[in-house]
Amino acid sequence: MDAQALTDFRALFEASPGLYLILNPDLSIVGASDAYLTATMTRRDEIVGRDLFEVFPDNPADPEASGVRNLAASLDRVRQFKQPDIMAVQKYDVRRADGILEERHWSPRNHPVLDAFDDIRWIVHAVEDVTEIARLQHQQHEAKDFAQEQQRMLAQLRSANEALAASEIALRASEERFRGLAEELKTQEARLSSILLTVPDAMIVIDERGTIQTFSQTAQGLFGYAPHEVLGCNVSLLMPEPYRREHDGYLEHHHATGERRVIGTGRIVVGQRKDGSTFPMELKVGEVLLEGRRQFTGFVRDLTERRETERHLHELQSELLHVARVSEMGQMASALAHELNQPLSAISMYLSGGRRILEQGDKTKALDAMRRASEQVDRAGQIIHRLREFVRKGEADRRVESLATTIEEASALALVGARSDGVRLTVWFDADAQSVFIDKIQVQQVLVNLIRNAVEAMTDCSQRDVTITTCAIENDMVEVSVADTGAGIASEIKEKLFQPFVTSKTTGMGVGLSLCRSIIEAHSGRLWAENGPAGGAIFRFTVPSAPG
Ligand code: ADP
Repeated sequence: MDAQALTDFRALFEASPGLYLILNPDLSIVGASDAYLTATMTRRDEIVGRDLFEVFPDNPADPEASGVRNLAASLDRVRQFKQPDIMAVQKYDVRRADGILEERHWSPRNHPVLDAFDDIRWIVHAVEDVTEIARLQHQQHEAKDFAQEQQRMLAQLRSANEALAASEIALRASEERFRGLAEELKTQEARLSSILLTVPDAMIVIDERGTIQTFSQTAQGLFGYAPHEVLGCNVSLLMPEPYRREHDGYLEHHHATGERRVIGTGRIVVGQRKDGSTFPMELKVGEVLLEGRRQFTGFVRDLTERRETERHLHELQSELLHVARVSEMGQMASALAHELNQPLSAISMYLSGGRRILEQGDKTKALDAMRRASEQVDRAGQIIHRLREFVRKGEADRRVESLATTIEEASALALVGARSDGVRLTVWFDADAQSVFIDKIQVQQVLVNLIRNAVEAMTDCSQRDVTITTCAIENDMVEVSVADTGAGIASEIKEKLFQPFVTSKTTGMGVGLSLCRSIIEAHSGRLWAENGPAGGAIFRFTVPSAPG
């Protein structure tokens, strides 16, 4: 090859677009293509003649750099086997003119160029800058990693979603159940309130301090209060004095001692409506423990209704008849004496006749007289038996009784009936007159009679108050007075008030007060009447007190 051809060839080689470095077998640099110089940011005059690894040492800042080692190994293989060696992509950073190292990735191939004796003449080190591909690959890797991460997150998201869906289903189910329960609760509530509506007795629930918790519709009608007027108020609101004042004390007493007055048993008491009027009622109270708290449920039956009280009145009336019989006994005594006299004088006649006949010795006639005498004895016995029967029921049954209970029950009964509408009943108890020794039924008859007379006397009055007062007096007696705001006792009948058949009423019998006086006198007491200083009548009676 001539010099011109060599120059041309060199120019051709140097201008080729491939990245080529030509090495001697001792790895010193012989030449390089312009593209190689550009890519490695070197200059030809800097590198030609120098050792390959002296020109391209490893990046001292990169402890993992293995480019030099790998290249040396490849070149060794080429020199040994005289075969081309294709290397894996190498990371080999190049130093820029400003001294800073730039990351680069290379795909190197080493080709031996053999001479005529099959010895290595040169080694062509061809490289391809694959930095961009590596970067893309790296990005791809990263994208793959990212995609994988995304997949993992998606999977996590999916399972979280599934869990969410499952819990949503559970939530919906429990919502459904809750709705069902609420529905059931509502029906139960509706059922309960419909029971409350239809229960004929008024129902009032109070807590242990007496605060009203429930007030049934019947109770509203009975007492004339709307629920919002009573709920949260003390139940004593529904009672007249003095019970109103005493009720708290009674509850406290019950808590402290467990002693029961109305709980469990029915009692006839007086209730007070919103308009102040009083009425008789039968009260039954039950006690329940709800969540550790005591509650009392009161069932109130209005005794103003005639049918409800017929039984009670009937009891009193039949007793009244017995009393009438007893009081008639005095008047009957002479009739009885007369009736008994007949068999007795017959007996005496037959006995003396019989004795005479016996003296004469006529036994048959004497026996006949004896038989007749014993017949009269039987007859007398029957009269006495009938008398016993007659008065038996009227026998007084006196015991120690609570004066308060006696008055409460009687006044409740006496207020029965339309005419007592709007009547206000007040009772004042003397603490020193608690127990009396009486026949309760009989004294209640007296009280019923006096209260009913008082109510009737106020029929045409606008102010209709009955006041009952008790008072301990001398000689171990108790005085009870029944005062009204009526017109007072008419002067024409004042004197004979307690005589039988004295009445100012068209339908009156006029026996009430005379019977009352008999009863009270049978109790060693007195019954009298006067007109009050402010008008109205006051009836007073006394009965023996009993040691508490
Ligand atoms: P009755 O009530 O059947 O008339 P009572 O013997 O109970 O019989 O009463 C006799 C009379 O006494 C009554 O008719 C009435 O004139 C009078 N009386 C009784 N209580 C009162 C009273 N509270 N106020 C005015 N008068 C009364």
